[in-house]
Amino acid sequence: MISHNNNLTDPRRYVPPPPEPGCATCCAYDRRRTFAQEAGDLSAATDFSVLIGRHPHGDGPEERR
Ligand SMILES: [Zn+2]
Repeated sequence: MISHNNNLTDPRRYVPPPPEPGCATCCAYDRRRTFAQEAGDLSAATDFSVLIGRHPHGDGPEERR
């Protein structure tokens, strides 16, 4: 019996991470992501979503706020 694994990331259901408030880098990514979406470049928009999602805030050793 075949069942779908809901644990896998479905691109159609993927919710882009929100930019960290007050983070200039995230805000810049968010603006560029919006611009890419409006331009129809969903590949670039997804790239920016990944960058926002990976940007460390407090938890990482690279950047402390
Ligand atoms: Zn950030």
